[in-house]
Amino acid sequence: LIQLYIPLNFMGTVYREIKQATLDIEQMFSLIGRDPEIQDRPGAPALDVHAGTVTFEDVHFAYVPERPILRGVSFEVPAGKTIAIVGPSGAGKSTISRLLFRFYEPQRGRILIDGQDIAAVQQVSLRSAIGMVPQDTVLFNDTIEYNLRYGRPEATQGEIEEAARLAQIDRFIKSLPEGYQTSVGERGLKLSGGEKQRVAIARTILKGPPVLVLDEATSALDSFTEKEIQDALDRVSEGRTTLVIAHRLSTVVNADEIIVLDKGVIVERGHHRDLLAADGVYAALWNRQRQVDEAKATLQRATQEE
Ligand code: ATP
Repeated sequence: LIQLYIPLNFMGTVYREIKQATLDIEQMFSLIGRDPEIQDRPGAPALDVHAGTVTFEDVHFAYVPERPILRGVSFEVPAGKTIAIVGPSGAGKSTISRLLFRFYEPQRGRILIDGQDIAAVQQVSLRSAIGMVPQDTVLFNDTIEYNLRYGRPEATQGEIEEAARLAQIDRFIKSLPEGYQTSVGERGLKLSGGEKQRVAIARTILKGPPVLVLDEATSALDSFTEKEIQDALDRVSEGRTTLVIAHRLSTVVNADEIIVLDKGVIVERGHHRDLLAADGVYAALWNRQRQVDEAKATLQRATQEE
C-alpha cells in the first residue's frame, strides 16, 4: 500500500502546485517531456516580440546522440502567416514544437523569434509569447469559467464569453444547467475531445499570444466537429504567426506554406496545390489519408444502417 500511496501522494502535490500556480498552461506541459538541464543564462533578457517572425536556422537535434531526429531544418514563419509541418509518423514534427518552446535545445543551429535566439532569452518570456492548442487538453477539476480564465486570469466575464463564442463553445456551455459555473473534469462533467479542444482554443484566444502552435489531433473527430474546430482554429490564428503540427492534413490546405518533413529532413515545401501537382511525398500522404477517411466513412455508414 505504501508503494501505491507515495506516487499518489506525489501526484496530489504536483496537482495542487499546478492548480495553485497562476502560471501559464505551457508551464504545465513543461513538467512533462523536457530536458531538466535547460536553464536561463545569467542576466538573460526577456524576449521582445514586435512582429512575431519565427525562424529555424539549420537546426540539428537528437534526444539521444545515436539517433538524429532533425538534420538541418531551416524555415521561416513570417509574422502573421501560417506554416504547416506535415510528414509521416515519427518524422520529427512535434519535436519542432518542443524545440520552439525550448523544452529541448538544438545541438546545432538556432531558433529565432524576431531575430532573437530563443536560447538567450528568459524562458518565462518565451513561453508567455507562445500559445499552444495541444492535441489533448488538460482540464482542471473546477468550473468551466476557471478553465477558460486560466488563459488570462484578469479577464472579465464579458471577455470570457466572447472568447467562448469565437471558439464556438458558448452555446454548449449555456445549455448546461449551471452554465459557466458547471464543474468539469474527473469529478464533474466529462467533455468530449472536440469540446475540450474548443475550451483550449477559447483559452488561447483570451491569452492572445503573438505566436501560436496548433498541434492537430491525431484521432479522427466526426466531420461536423472537425469543421467547427477548423473554423475556431482559423479565427484564433488570424493575424498571428502560426505553426500547425499536422498529424492528419485536414488543417493544411489553406496554409501559406506546407513543409514536408521526412526522417528529420525537409523533402518538399510549397502550397497544397503545387505539392499535389508535384506528385511526391505530400501527394502520397494526402491520397493515403483520403483513402483512410473514405474507408472510415463507409464503415460508419454501414454501422449506422445496421
Ligand atoms: P507523430 O505524427 O506520430 O506524432 P512526429 O513526427 O510528431 O510523429 P516526434 O514526436 O517529433 O514525431 O518524434 C520523432 C521521433 O523522436 C520518434 O521516433 C520518437 O520516438 C522520438 N522521440 C520523441 N520524444 C522522445 C524522447 N523524449 N526521447 C527519445 N526519443 C523521443
